[in-house]
Amino acid sequence: MTEQVPGKVDMDKLVSLCKRRGFIFPSSEIYGGLGACYDYGPLGAELKNNVKKAWWKAAVQDRDDMVGLDASILMHPQTWVASGHVEGFADPLVECKQCHQRWRADHIKDGKCPACGGELTEPRMFNLMFKTFVGPVEDEASVVYLRPETAQGIFVNFQNVLNSTRRKLPFGIAQMGKSFRNEITTGNFIFRMREFEQMEIEYFVKPGTDEQWFKHWVEQRFNWYSNLGIKKENLRLRQHTKDELAHYARDCYDIEYLFPIGWSELEGIANRTDFDLKQHSQYSGKDLSYFDEETKEHIMPYVIEPSAGVDRSVLAFLADSYDEEKDKEGLRVILRLHYALAPIKVAVLPLSRNEKLLPLSKEVYDSLRKCWMVQYDDAQSIGRRYRRQDEIGTPFCVTIDFQSVEDRQVTIRERDKMRQIRVPIEVLKATLEAKLCGESLEVLPPGGKKWLGFE
Ligand code: ATP
Repeated sequence: MTEQVPGKVDMDKLVSLCKRRGFIFPSSEIYGGLGACYDYGPLGAELKNNVKKAWWKAAVQDRDDMVGLDASILMHPQTWVASGHVEGFADPLVECKQCHQRWRADHIKDGKCPACGGELTEPRMFNLMFKTFVGPVEDEASVVYLRPETAQGIFVNFQNVLNSTRRKLPFGIAQMGKSFRNEITTGNFIFRMREFEQMEIEYFVKPGTDEQWFKHWVEQRFNWYSNLGIKKENLRLRQHTKDELAHYARDCYDIEYLFPIGWSELEGIANRTDFDLKQHSQYSGKDLSYFDEETKEHIMPYVIEPSAGVDRSVLAFLADSYDEEKDKEGLRVILRLHYALAPIKVAVLPLSRNEKLLPLSKEVYDSLRKCWMVQYDDAQSIGRRYRRQDEIGTPFCVTIDFQSVEDRQVTIRERDKMRQIRVPIEVLKATLEAKLCGESLEVLPPGGKKWLGFE
C-alpha cells in the first residue's frame, strides 16, 4: 500500500468496515481472492447503485441535451484499432531480474525493484486490454477485447442515436458500465481494479464552441461531487501539462480527490476535438459527420468527455463520509453519507422485542419499505442498534415504544446530530420523505414535537 495521508481515515480501517458490514469483499475470497477484483456486498450494491442513479439523474434525467445508451462490452475488434487502443493502450513495464515482479516504469523512483531491491530490465510495452475469443475457434481472426472504456460504444453509435432521436448539436450521450484493464500497479483497494465500472459522457459540439462547453462540464462535474457531500477542501482540479496531453486532446482536467493514499484522479474531463469521430469514419468507411441545417454544411463535431469511475467515486464517498466520535460507550463510527447515497434510508427499531410492540412495528416497517430500502432491527439494546445504523450511514431511525401503541406516535432520530422528533404515524411517511429531500428536522409536521427520549 502507498503512504497514508495524515488526518484521513486509514485505508485499512475502511477496508475492514467494508468487509465487516457487507459493503465490499475481495472477489472469490474462498479461493484466496483474485488480484484487484472486488465484489460488492448487500450494502455496497445499494451504495454503488445509488452513486450510479445520482450520476444518471445529473447526466441524463435533469438535462434536455443528453440521452442515455447501454452498449455491449464486446465490440468489433476494429473499434480498438481505430481508437488507438491496440497500438497505444500500453504501459512501459520493467521486470525485476531477481523476483520477476513487474512494475510500471513510471512508478519506479530509484531504479531498483520496490519489492526486493533487485536489478530491473529495460522497459517493455505491455497492452492493458484483456483478450478473448468469439466463437469456437481460438485463432487471431476471432480475437475480441473486453472494453477498456465505455466511450467507444458511444462513438460507434453516434449516427444511430442522431438518426433515432433527431438531436441537434450540442447534445451528449451518457453511458455507464463495466470496463476491464489488466492493470499492473494494484493494491489500493477499489482505487485501481482490473474489472471496474465507468460513467462516461461524450458531449458533441460545434467546433469553435468547444472551449466554452469544456468549461461548463468541468464545473458541472466538480459540483456533482460537492453537491453529493464531498468536502470542497478534499477536491481540486488539475490541468494536464502539454506532455501529459494525448496528441489529439486540446485540453484536459483531472478532478482529484484527497484519498487516504494522497491526491489522485477521480475523474478526467477532456476536449478530444474531432479525433474519435474522424477515426471511426475512416476505419469503418461510414460518414459520421453531422449535417448542420443552418449552414447546410457537413461538420465533424468536437467532443467533450467527462469520464468518471463508479468504484473510485464509491471509495471517495466512503472515505469522505467516514467519521468517529468519542462517547460514553466508546467510539461512535458514522458514515455521514449524503441521503441520496445512503444504502439504507430508514431503520425501524422497536424499543424491545416485547410482543406488544410487534404488530405496530411491523405495520410501520411494511408501509415504509414500499418507498425506500428499510431495515428492521430488534436485536440488542436501542443504543447499540443506533450505532449499527450510524456505521452504515442510515439517515433516520424510527423507534416504536410502548407509548406508540397508545398514541400512534413514533420517534424519528437522525444520524448526524442525533436529534429526535416525535410524529404521528399517519404523517410519518410524508415527514421522512421531506427530511430525505433535505427539509430540516426542526420543521415539525402537524402533531409533531421535539423529543428528548432514549439515547
Ligand atoms: P489512472 O491514471 O488513474 O490509471 P486513467 O487516466 O487511465 O486513470 P481514464 O482512462 O481517464 O483513467 O478513465 C476514467 C476514469 O475511470 C478514471 O478517472 C477513474 O475514475 C476510472 N478508472 C480508470 N481506470 C480504473 C481502474 N483500473 N480501476 C478503477 N477505476 C478506474
